[in-house]
Amino acid sequence: MILIVHIILGAAIATILPNQPILALVLAFLSHYILDVFPHVEYSTENFKPDRKKIKELLTIIHIFLDFTFGLLLIILLTNDHLLIYACGLVAALPDTLTALKYLFPKNKFLKAHYKFHQAIHLFDDQNGIKKPNFFNQLKISNFWRVLTQIIVIVVSVFIFKPTLVQAIFPFFSLGTL
Ligand SMILES: [Zn+2]
Repeated sequence: MILIVHIILGAAIATILPNQPILALVLAFLSHYILDVFPHVEYSTENFKPDRKKIKELLTIIHIFLDFTFGLLLIILLTNDHLLIYACGLVAALPDTLTALKYLFPKNKFLKAHYKFHQAIHLFDDQNGIKKPNFFNQLKISNFWRVLTQIIVIVVSVFIFKPTLVQAIFPFFSLGTL
């Protein structure tokens, strides 16, 4: 998934577990891999291959940077400024950082193994380095559903740390609290 989704969910996990920082950090880190299993839109890692135009690579880097900044901005604006919230947000984004580092250090064994695992977890993706087709990546899932999964995670996460905001935008969220 794109970074903003991971950062926001990491922050939500910290909000639920403010007194268990270690557990919150571990869950935030694991949440990255769990989210990546679901169908989603993703940055094109293909754009980093040497034969691709540099402008495509640059645009992808700008996109990643904007997502990261916007994710941080959202948690600065919407959460109660707690160190654990930022730490969990960053830890939740860490697997994608390790994946990006693999492009910088292609020979590093740990980064290579992590890259393989991270790509394999993208069950519904066939363009991210998974050569063998499986049942899931043969299902054609439209971008509508791939975007919707990410919107759901963002809305649920924001609901966790700022319920009033979500209730103002989606009134049906407040039904359960009446
Ligand atoms: Zn990822």
